[in-house]
This record gives sequence, C-alpha cells and structure tokens, in this order.
Amino acid sequence: MNSVSVIGSGFSGMASAAFLAKAGCEVTVLEKNDSVGGRARAFSDSGFLFDMGPSWYWMPDVFEKFFANFGRKPEDYYKLIQLDPGFQIYFGKGDVMQVPASMDGIYDLFERTEKGAADKLRMFMKEGRYKYDVGMSELVYRPSFSWTEFMRYDVIKGAARLHLLRSVRSHVHQYFRNERLKALMEFPSLFLGAMAHQIPALYTLMNYAAFSMGTWYPMGGMVRVAEAMQELASELGVNFRLSEPVTQMQVEGGRVTALHTAQGRVATDGVVAAADYHHVEQALLPQEYRNYNTGYWQGRTMAPSCLLFYVGVRRRVEGLIHHNLFFDRSIDTHAREIYEDPQWPSEPLFYICCPSKTDPSVAPAGMENLFILVPVAPGLEDTDDMRAHYRKVVLNRLKEVTGEDIEKDIIYSRSYCINDFVADYNAYRGNAYGLANTLKQTAVLKPTLRNKKLSNLFYAGQLTVPGPGVPPALISGQIAAQQLLKKIKSQYHEAVI
Ligand SMILES: Cc1cc2nc3c(=O)[nH]c(=O)nc-3n(C[C@H](O)[C@H](O)[C@H](O)COP(=O)(O)OP(=O)(O)OC[C@H]3O[C@@H](n4cnc5c(N)ncnc54)[C@H](O)[C@@H]3O)c2cc1C
Repeated sequence: MNSVSVIGSGFSGMASAAFLAKAGCEVTVLEKNDSVGGRARAFSDSGFLFDMGPSWYWMPDVFEKFFANFGRKPEDYYKLIQLDPGFQIYFGKGDVMQVPASMDGIYDLFERTEKGAADKLRMFMKEGRYKYDVGMSELVYRPSFSWTEFMRYDVIKGAARLHLLRSVRSHVHQYFRNERLKALMEFPSLFLGAMAHQIPALYTLMNYAAFSMGTWYPMGGMVRVAEAMQELASELGVNFRLSEPVTQMQVEGGRVTALHTAQGRVATDGVVAAADYHHVEQALLPQEYRNYNTGYWQGRTMAPSCLLFYVGVRRRVEGLIHHNLFFDRSIDTHAREIYEDPQWPSEPLFYICCPSKTDPSVAPAGMENLFILVPVAPGLEDTDDMRAHYRKVVLNRLKEVTGEDIEKDIIYSRSYCINDFVADYNAYRGNAYGLANTLKQTAVLKPTLRNKKLSNLFYAGQLTVPGPGVPPALISGQIAAQQLLKKIKSQYHEAVI
C-alpha cells in the first residue's frame, strides 16, 4: 500500500485525501491549525457559532457529485435548506431588491425592473446553461496541463458560445440597461476574485447556477460541510494530524520522500500540497524544485483579501435577511481601490451574512449572528486603527440604509483581516480567495497542478485550477488526487516491468 500525504485540510486537501484513500492509499493529512476546513473553519464564543469564511452554498450539484463518488449524499451528513429570497441587495436607504428562489419570481423581478428584461433573461439563461453544461460537467475536471485537453469536437464547435473572449461586463451590458440588473448580474464575478470587465463571460455560468439551482444553507453552518468531509475521509481511513504544520519537503532522486513537520518526519510516496501554492513553493521546497519564482508571483492578479467582523447582537436586527449585499455606493470606485490603485477603500461596498435568520443554533435565542465582509486589496497595511475605522463605517452605513443602530447592542465582536490570513493560512499577501479568474489566469494559464521537477508532487486549492470558491476547491482536490494516483500506478508498473 502506498503511503501518501496531503498538506492542508481545506476543502481541496480533504477532497484529495478522500479520493486517495478510496483508491487504497494510506493517507495522512497534515494540518497547521487545530481544526479542519481551512478558510471554512468556524469558532464559538459567547453562545455564537461563527463561520469564518464561506457563507454562500451555490452549485449544489458539485457537492452531490463529490459525495456520489463515495456512494454518499450530502444529506447523509448535513441538512440543506434553500433560502427564499436567496439574497437581497441594498442600493440605498430602504431601497432593496430581493431575489426570490423561484425562476418565475426572478423573471417577474426582471420584468418589473426593466420592461422586456424577462425575455432577455430567458435568453441569457439558455446561454448560461450551455456554458454550465460544457464547463462544469467536464472541462473543469481537466488538469489543464495543455490546451489539447480542451480540443473536443463539440467544444471547438461550440467555442464561440462559451464567450471566452468577451468579458462578463460586456456580455451583461448587451442584455440589460437597468443599472440594478447590471449590478445584480455582475455580482457573482466577485466570487471569482476580479471585476466583471476582467473576467471572461464564460463565468456567467455562475448566474445560471445561482438563479436556476438556488442559494442553499447547511444547517449548523458552512462548517458542517467541512466536518462532513472530515467524517467521510475518516470513514475511508484517512489519518488527520492537526496542529502539525509542514516545515519542509525532503527531496531525493526527483521525488519528495518525506515531509518534515513541527513534530517530526513523515516518510511519503507522494504528496498533494493543498496549502496555499505560493507558501508551499517558497517556504517548503528548495529553490531548484520550485515551478515559479518571486517575480512570477508578483505578476499575478490576486483575488481580494477582506476585512471581516464577526458580531453578536443581543437582539433581533430588522431589515436583514440571511444574505445582504450593500451596493449603496459606487462599485467601480471600490473596485479601482482593490485592483487598479490598491488602497483602503474610501466608501466600501460590503456584505452581511445573518445566518441566525435561518438557523437558531448559531446564536442564543432572540439574538443575531452577523458576519460582515468588506473586500480589500491584498497586501495592504493592516492595523487596529484601520479595523476600528471600518467597523464604524459599516455600522453607520447599516444604520443609514436599514435604520438599525446596533452599536450599543453588540455583545461580541472580533475582527479578522490580512495579518490573520497570513498568520493562520500562510496566505500570500493575505489573500482571502486565492488567484483571480481573469482570462490570463484561466485553465492552462494558472499555476500548474503538477510540480515540473518532482514527479510525485501535485498542488491543489484555490491558487491552481480551477480557481477560487468551495466547489472549485473540491474539484481541484479531486484532479490532484487523480494525477498523483496515475503517477503512482505508472511508477508501480515501471518497477514491476
Ligand atoms: C471570508 C471568505 C469568504 C468566502 N466566501 C465564499 C463563499 O461564500 N462561497 C464559496 O464557494 N467560497 C467562498 N470563499 C472561498 C473558499 O472558502 C475557498 O476558495 C476555499 O475554502 C479554499 O479551499 P482550499 O482548500 O484551497 O484552501 P484553504 O481552505 O485555505 O486550506 C488550506 C489549508 O492549508 C493549511 N496550511 C497552510 N500552511 C500549512 C503548512 N505549512 N502545513 C500544513 N497545513 C498548512 C491551512 O491551515 C489551511 O487549513 C470564501 C473565502 C473567504 C476567506
């Protein structure tokens, strides 16, 4: 039996571990932190349970497909609730657009907002479905070592319909005139770590997924999904070693032969490195075995980091639903301050998740659990004063827009930002979501999943293919495991022959 190691227990690492164990490997996951989940960990304090990272459960089919590989279903581990409305967007004081769960409701909303927009949305969705079917059913599961992997007759024939050379923004603007509808349709691009004008319109498949498949919530929080992955992996025999950071990879004869950790040495036949790619290469590998140098990383467009506030309020907060986007200031100004001229935002847009609207287990009775996210450029100077300033800004804006003044009712508050991403996850420049999915950083143009000099080392996670987000992380872990297994098999055959 081959003994393999996985560095990091985020979604990508745990997905890899499960596939490797299913194939008969003896798998050890080495995790720096004291709990699994990576950016999707949670913490409890003062009776509140806070998800620390992801809060949107989109593309439920990807989770179903993942668990089906092991003869399981998501509901074997957690209970999913579809949110209705899926989310709401504030455009100003008391000025809110709620996005219903049903497609009929969404068509009505479009028609009410712009005459004729419902029919346009029908066309948009038809195209989105094509992109989703082609992109998510197969292409996204390719390792992206070469463009030839995508040279399928039907893909080439339908390439123009994938809209790779047009941006999300120009695609959306071709369909809709109303500024609110444009903002609504461009918002999923933020999940991909860049602005709508930088992202290929292929990714409007996200709009299709959001509208047609809905916005879901796993009761108990997103952390339930991470715990489910750990349970599944453990059932398959994976050994988790928490609070054991990997400090170095030992290399012999063109292969990684062992991992050195804070606790000792772990001999290995193969590695999936599912911690942040930049950290793995720059901190754990000797220079001559790295795929990329520092200049390469400096030239990448990172997805944003974020300033987060985990807030417990001792009363109910009106005007919020589960997911709330505050688009009551200029999106373009904030975007410029993230991507083009990195600086702390002058008037940030922000997002508030209030899971206690759906799930009584995440807050004491009658209280509210708020997760406030302000996207910011990675690599900014992160200070207590800056955090305190933005805490005031978001609380004032919440008051201005919803009429709710919660300051005096806050009984728990913790901030989390760039310095924490670096300290907790070894995140390059404190990024939150990895590498942006711009055209120049898509598929083969992303940091490659394999180490070009060490035959048994593969990378997984949000800095390699397919990109940022929980569903892509699951897929990334699967592809990396499959590539390592292929290598192990071929080496076995070489040895036998
Ligand atoms: C605030 C926030 C909100 C988000 N919202 C959403 C959302 O709503 N929906 C969505 O789909 N996605 C969302 N995302 C993105 C999503 O969470 C990530 O893309 C995904 O979880 C990344 O998984 P990963 O396995 O690539 O990396 P990670 O989760 O970062 O896992 C990497 C692991 O490696 C460990 N590690 C690092 N260095 C070492 C070392 N030397 N030795 C051992 N272990 C090490 C880390 O501790 C970590 O556990 C969000 C992310 C953040 C931060």
